[in-house]
This record gives sequence, C-alpha cells and structure tokens, in this order.
Amino acid sequence: MTTSNGPRRPVIAGNWKMNPASQKEAVALATAVAESVQDLDATTVICPPTMWLLPVVRSVGGSVGIGAQTMAAEESGAFTGETSPLMLRGIADWVILGHSERRQYYGETDETVRGKVVSALAHGLRPILAVGEHFEERAAGATEAVIDRQLRIALADLDRIAGSGLTIAYEPVWAIGTGNAATGDDAQAAAIQIRDLLRELDVAGAEEVAVLYGGSVTPDNAREFLAQPDIDGALVGGASLDADGFGRIVACAAELHG
Ligand code: PEP
Repeated sequence: MTTSNGPRRPVIAGNWKMNPASQKEAVALATAVAESVQDLDATTVICPPTMWLLPVVRSVGGSVGIGAQTMAAEESGAFTGETSPLMLRGIADWVILGHSERRQYYGETDETVRGKVVSALAHGLRPILAVGEHFEERAAGATEAVIDRQLRIALADLDRIAGSGLTIAYEPVWAIGTGNAATGDDAQAAAIQIRDLLRELDVAGAEEVAVLYGGSVTPDNAREFLAQPDIDGALVGGASLDADGFGRIVACAAELHG
C-alpha cells in the first residue's frame, strides 16, 4: 500500500437527491452555491434532479460543474423513464454512477454500473463512481472485498484511466444519510485500497483520479476526511442542500488541497 499526495485538484460534489421540489428553489439553491464557492480553489459540482438540470445550467452553468445523479447506458430506445448520455451531453459534465440508492432501490448491479461507466466516458461525461459496503458486510469483515469487487467489475471494460476524468467516491452505505460518518482513518484506508487497485489497471492514470469520501459529511466533520492524504474531496448529500454549509466544505477542501 502506498499513500499518495498527488497533484489532484480537490472535488466537492453535492448530490441533491430528489430535492428541492420546485424549479424556483433549485435555481435559488444553485445560485446561492455558486456565490458561496466563487474564488475558491476547488472543483465544485452540483448534481440536481434531472428535471432541474437545464434551469440550473442556465442560471449557474460555467461557474460550477453540473452533474446528473444517474444515467442509462443506452443512447435511445424503449427505456421508460430513463435519461440517455446523448441527452445529458452538453448539459451535464459529470454523472454519479452506482450510487447505493440506485443499487438498492432500482436494482443496479455491478454489471449495469460497468455499462454505464463505459457509456458515460464514451459520451464525454465524467463519472463519479460510487462504491462501498453495507453495514452487514462491514460487520463480516468484507469491506475490502466489496470495494474490490465493485471497482473491478465497474472498470473492467476500460482500456485506460489516464485522461478519462474518472472520479471514485468511497461511500459506505451505512454512513449515507445516517449522521453516522466513517472515521477519517477508515476512509483513508479505503482510499488507499482504491488507488492501489487503480494503479494495477493504469499506473500513471491512477494518479489523476480524485478519490472522494461520502457519507454524512458536514461542514463540521469535513476536515477529518479532507485532511487525509489520499482523500481528494467529498460527495455530499444532505449537507449540499444548504449553500453556506456546502460552501464551507468547499472552502475546507480549497484550504487543504487547493
Ligand atoms: C450521498 O447521497 O451520496 C451521501 C453521501 O449522502 P449524505 O451526505 O446525506 O450521507
């Protein structure tokens, strides 16, 4: 295992999940986020619901990165309710893939995530690939095995990582939305494992990949994660809905890594 202080720009991504309920609120939140992170030396990404992507891009596009929360692998066809990479391209720059809520509630498997990762990259979208273990898996001592399996399968069809814009988020499922964040040490250990595995696939490319921690990150605990040498940022759910608090997390990343 090797720790790494690579020259990676920090990435703080906000996963708004199915919030807020109206376009007006979405635009107001995006505008407030853009104001609170301006001039900070960190990459900020906001991931609104698909319905609000376009109005959010029109109001703040260019000042912050815009991400989708999921995506179909296919370009078009009989996939009711889905959004294709062709539709996202030109609107979103990023896309969260393999989020545990997608795996848990919408039946996404390691294999479907693999198809989405390849498709996103082929269409010029930067995946934020989420991996992480359930509580029971952790209790059974299977954390490393779960991360290893999810990552190897998701990346199996990539011929290189360098230049791809791939980002990985370690998100222990038991820490998401629970207020029960992992420890900095546990997140650091997972980040080292992730980068070691990336090095197996592409030695040089692995150093480019931002590895994020996600799971109950708040302005009050962000430093514990962002101060870890192998953690390059955070994927933030609930706390990304408060523009000031989210801005404080981005400021912390900029201070420590920028
Ligand atoms: C998430 O949705 O990816 C997440 C980490 O949520 P929260 O920060 O609310 O735990």
